[in-house]
This record gives sequence, C-alpha cells and structure tokens, in this order.
Amino acid sequence: MSTSLSDRGIDPSRVERLLERERARFVQTHPRSAEIHRRAAGSMLYGVPMNWMTRWASPSPVVVASAAGATVEDVDGNTYVDLCLGDTGAMAGHGPRAVVDAVAEQMARGATFMLPTETSLWVAEEMARRFGMSQWQFALTASDANRFVLRLARQVTGRSQVVVHNWCYHGSVDETLATLSPDGDVVPRHGSVGPALDVTSSTRVVEINDVAALEAVLRGGTVAAVLVEPALTNIGIVLPDDDYHHELRRITRETGTLLIIDETHTICAGPGGYTRREGLEPDLLTIGKTIGGGVPVAAYGMTDELAGRVVDGTFWHEADVGGVGGTLAGNALSMAAVRATLSEVLTEPAFERMEELAVRLCAGIESVIDRHDVPWHVTRLGCRSEYLFSPHPPRNGAEAEAAGDEQLDAALHLAMLNRGVLLTPFHNMTLMSPATNAAQVDAHTAAFEEIVAELLS
Ligand code: PMP
Repeated sequence: MSTSLSDRGIDPSRVERLLERERARFVQTHPRSAEIHRRAAGSMLYGVPMNWMTRWASPSPVVVASAAGATVEDVDGNTYVDLCLGDTGAMAGHGPRAVVDAVAEQMARGATFMLPTETSLWVAEEMARRFGMSQWQFALTASDANRFVLRLARQVTGRSQVVVHNWCYHGSVDETLATLSPDGDVVPRHGSVGPALDVTSSTRVVEINDVAALEAVLRGGTVAAVLVEPALTNIGIVLPDDDYHHELRRITRETGTLLIIDETHTICAGPGGYTRREGLEPDLLTIGKTIGGGVPVAAYGMTDELAGRVVDGTFWHEADVGGVGGTLAGNALSMAAVRATLSEVLTEPAFERMEELAVRLCAGIESVIDRHDVPWHVTRLGCRSEYLFSPHPPRNGAEAEAAGDEQLDAALHLAMLNRGVLLTPFHNMTLMSPATNAAQVDAHTAAFEEIVAELLS
C-alpha cells in the first residue's frame, strides 16, 4: 500500500475508532455466530469450511441460517441485503424457484451417470447462442475450466507459456498465481501456497492496457495463450481502454497465440458477458459460478477451428486420465440447474433490470461521495459496481492495488454489515441479482451516507 490513509480523505484515527465501535456492536448482536465459530475451531481449520470465510471484517464469521432472493438471515436472526451474492456464485439470487424445482426433480431421477442427459444438449446450444463459441465442455468450477483450457492451449500450440494480466485472479490455477514486481519482473503472487511450478518460467505478466508490453512478450513465439478477464474485476474494476481488445486480438492472431477470455465475473455486462456485448472474438471462453444458480458448474467453449485441433490431438484411450477431466463434470444435476438458470432466471429482461438497479446504486454512491467531498470514485460494469478510495479510475492492476486500503475497507465493511448490508470482503464490490429491488439498493445508499458522515464527523 503506497498511499497513507489520510490521502483517502479520512483521518486514520477516525477509521480506527469506527472499527472499534463496530466490533463491539457486532459482538453484542452475533452471540450465536460467535459460539458456533468457537466450537468449529475444534473440527475445522480456522473454524470454517474454507479459510477465506475468515476474511470478512467481523470479529467472527456471520453464520448463515437461510437466504432467499437477495436477503440473507443469520443464526442470530439478523437480516442482510446481500450485495456480495457469494462473490458472484449467487448472482442468480438465493434459491431461485425455477432452479430449486429443476434440481429437486433431477435429483429424484439421478444426479450423475458418466453419461449425458438430453438437458446437456439444450445447455450447450444455449451457451453457444449466448457467448458465440460453438463447441462446449463442462467442469465444476471456474478454476477447473481455466486449468483445462490452458492444458488444451499448450497441447494444440506446442508452446509452454501463458500470459496473464497483473493482479488478475482466475482461481486456484498455478500458472496464473503471478504478479509483476515494482521492477517489472514476474514474481509468485504473495501468499501463493506451495507453488507447483516456477511461475517465472511458466508465466509472463503484463498490465491490462499495456499494448507495447503485450506485443513484446508475444513476439517471442513461446506463449500458448493469453488468459484474461476482459475487464479486471478482482482488484476492484479496471476497464479496458477503447482499443485494447482490438489490439489484443490483433497481436494474438499475428503471433499464433490463443486468446482465452474468462467471463466468470464479467457476465455482469450482459447475458452473453462482455464478450458478446463488445463483439470480442476469443478462441476459448471460460465461465463458472453464476450459470448453475448456485449449483457447482462451469463451462468452457471454443471455436469450431480450435475444436478440430483439440479433437485431432486427443489420445482417446487415456482421455479420462489426461489431466482434463472431473468425474462429476457435466453431471445431470448441474446441467438441470444451468438450464433452469439460463431459461428462467438470468434472462435478458432480468439483466436489463439488474443494470438499471446498478445505475441507481452508483448514483446513490456518487451523491454521497460528492456531498462529503471525499476523493473516491465508483466504477460500474453492467450490474456490478466497485467503489475505490482514489479520485480517478485506475488504468491497470498496479494502480488499482495501490488505491486499496485494508483498514478503511474493514471499517466500511463491518459498519455495512452492522447496518444490514453484505459487501464482498476482499474489496468494495456490489452486485445485483434478478431478485434485488430498489429498496435494497437505497438501503445501501443510506448506510453508506451514515458511515461516511461518521468517518468525517
Ligand atoms: N475466474 C475469475 C474471473 C474469478 O473471479 C474466479 C473466482 N473469484 C475464478 C475464475 C475461480 O472461480 P472458482 O473459485 O469458483 O473456481
């Protein structure tokens, strides 16, 4: 973090005092959550089923009792407007009726067979219609989908390296856990656990919007694929320059490098993601989290041309153990969930309503920022928004990282939580679902106003 707290327009001692008050308030109103967490330390590492569940700003994790639509209730009876939505995994809203019914019905008829169901045909055709890629395969997580396409890319190109954006996140994918040092060298991402490979040789990292760096890296002819989100979403939102995708596609084509677009978060831009909205032409596209309405599933699609090369390179007798797999991948339950989600929940009219709500949310945030004259800004991509503690949108990952502030984030997130609003823990992301309503958006604006006023008073 290169900037001091006061550069965020807020006195650091006020941030600290707010945090103390909010921690005390949380402890008073969440006794049952705290008790469950204490007991869970005896049977789960960190007292939670997945370590990042402790990354929320609260003194102990909120333990969920139930959720419906965009509302979550915890075991102490507190309710929340959910703008985190499982960091996009629940972008369809919690428990959408169509998905509940489809999953219950499929479960009663069998969940997994190592054989296709007719529903998988509907799903693949709909994925092709939405995203423009013609041939599809399925996995259970976006991490898996990304791992598999990187393998396929190396197989068909005969090249070994991968390019990613600085401060990207594509899941637990070894090649992508790399960043640029301040000197511009590739280094393992801080906190990378037991790296399986040396990213300084497997991976080249470039900043989003740095066409010259991209060109220099790809001219070497050693890179199998560039794997990118079309806009960064995991270090706040960093939007591409107007001509960036045009240049990215030009250079990848000229150098025989495959272009993989990860739409896992940027589906917020519309029913066919950023790719369809902006007419991008990747060779491969990956997506996870959203499309199953909460049921684990991911997908990767490719062009006909690439599909031909993949099939030619497939060693059929060992296809099940070749590193592109997953016994439960493409299972009937996931497919039923995707069909219900795409046909009845994450529909085109739903995206229109979600985007309108995000516009309303951003207007609310901007009005608070303006009224209190804090040097912050908000960025929106479709139905996803992010606020950041800098006056202007960052142009690359390093700028976005430098604008973050853990202490201010923590104070804001915990104060939001105590006022009944859930924000994504790692940054200030707010996401709309088809079930979110205007009153919930306005509840966020009111809480934001109250917290900023407290931080400044
Ligand atoms: N791609 C992107 C763009 C992501 O944001 C994430 C997770 N945040 C992933 C892939 C990995 O998803 P999962 O953890 O479900 O595998």
